[in-house]
Amino acid sequence: MLMRIGGEEAESGSGAWLDVVNPATGEVLDRVPAGDRGDVGRAYAAAGAASGGWAAKGPRERGKILFHGAEAIRAEHRDLARTLTREQGKPLREAVDEVRGCANVLEFFASISGCLSGDFIRLGPAGDGIVVREPVGVCGAIIPWNMPVILMGWKAGPALLAGNTLVLKPSSTTPLTTLSIAGILERAGLPPGVLNIVTGTGESAGQAIVAHPGIGKVSFTGNTATGIAVRKAAAPLMKEVTLELGGSDPMIVWKDADLGLAVDGAIRGRFYNAGQVCNAVKRVYVHEEIAARFQEMLLDRVRSLKVGDGLDPSVEMGPLQNRAQLERVEGQVDRLRDRGEGRVLAGGGRLRDPGHARGFFYTPTLVSDPAPDAGILQEEVFGPVLPVMAVPDLDTAIAEANRSRYGLGASVWTRDLGVARAVFERSAAGVVWVNRHLTSPPELPFGGVKESGLGRENGVQAISQWTRAKSLFLGW
Ligand code: NDP
Repeated sequence: MLMRIGGEEAESGSGAWLDVVNPATGEVLDRVPAGDRGDVGRAYAAAGAASGGWAAKGPRERGKILFHGAEAIRAEHRDLARTLTREQGKPLREAVDEVRGCANVLEFFASISGCLSGDFIRLGPAGDGIVVREPVGVCGAIIPWNMPVILMGWKAGPALLAGNTLVLKPSSTTPLTTLSIAGILERAGLPPGVLNIVTGTGESAGQAIVAHPGIGKVSFTGNTATGIAVRKAAAPLMKEVTLELGGSDPMIVWKDADLGLAVDGAIRGRFYNAGQVCNAVKRVYVHEEIAARFQEMLLDRVRSLKVGDGLDPSVEMGPLQNRAQLERVEGQVDRLRDRGEGRVLAGGGRLRDPGHARGFFYTPTLVSDPAPDAGILQEEVFGPVLPVMAVPDLDTAIAEANRSRYGLGASVWTRDLGVARAVFERSAAGVVWVNRHLTSPPELPFGGVKESGLGRENGVQAISQWTRAKSLFLGW
């Protein structure tokens, strides 16, 4: 597939290409241009040319176009979901969820188009003040490979509604569905140049977006180390950045929890998308009175999860998205075993059957009572590995849950409102769930504290991240 610049398909000036590989089979699916600095420059020029006309449309006009775009995505969701499964690996039903989720996000932002307001402030006899929110102009968005479609919606929805134009770089390993959606949005009425997709690696196209002096803001999702590099590169240009980075979300299961619900929550929370979700359940702290029963129920479920090619409708978990990720997760579990840091109760290795030998499959893995300083508790494990720890009381559970460099989400599973409230108030996290995990509706702001990032996506609050306040003093 080709890039999309200024409403047209485009090759890279570099003349180079990148293969896109199906992670379930190891086969090359397609190829995309290896975009470089020159391509980012062309995309910037197209976004700049579209910027004035797009910003001049009223918010409701922009919202209407997003509504049409959402409808068009929904109409083509089956084909889009198949492409997503083939390039990303997730089971088809999760791909359908994600594509429809992107349409929902665009609709949410379209639905608040009548609410883009400023402030009027009475300043006394000398005058009054008016504060308006202006679009930044041309913005950049950089997206990873784990949830490429929903994250495109999280960035393009508020950025475009606010009146910005975008240069967006998908991950080089999952560019195809993003490119298809950009074409669909244009056919649904998005003017050429408002959304430009430059394919290519982070080292080339990604760094060029961050370094481009005309791109006023960058919203980045990915690894914490890359996020720090993005922030450093943006600093001398005074470029604003939103960073949605890693997570190591704790799940606290209290002694009065509905165990069936909590087990379902842990399975979905950890093994959805083969565990490759920033706000997945990455550590479970369970009250010692119910720990044995909870672990037994969990073990049954983990052992029975069907792993395979996501296009097979009976499959519950697909491969990891790329070989480097498979090796990273494998290394983390191997180190745990080598150092005697925890007991692997299920999984703990690649899927060995010959039918899956060329795909990047790792087995669903359950680890019991790892040492508090074990690598898998201190690092982000972006794969299907679930550590479970028994805790004696709520203070210990909350203290252990907060003992992380990350602070994205946290959940508590209980029927006791006092326990739920204590976890909500004392968690160092941007999002707290009660009797849920993972669900991130577009109505709620999403983002983290500590090394999980800067800024918030989603919610009406997201608009402030894509606009700048401008004040007017009216002297009477
Ligand atoms: P990266 O942070 O490297 O990649 C995310 C995006 O940033 C990709 O589009 C990538 O391009 C691009 N990128 C890479 N380097 C730069 C740079 N210097 N400047 C600008 N853009 C850049 O994540 P990985 O894909 O390598 O994943 C590694 C780890 O990151 C995972 O193991 C996981 O722990 C974490 N991760 C966390 C996510 C989250 O949502 N919290 C999402 C994805 C990963 P390209 O890949 O095309 O080269």
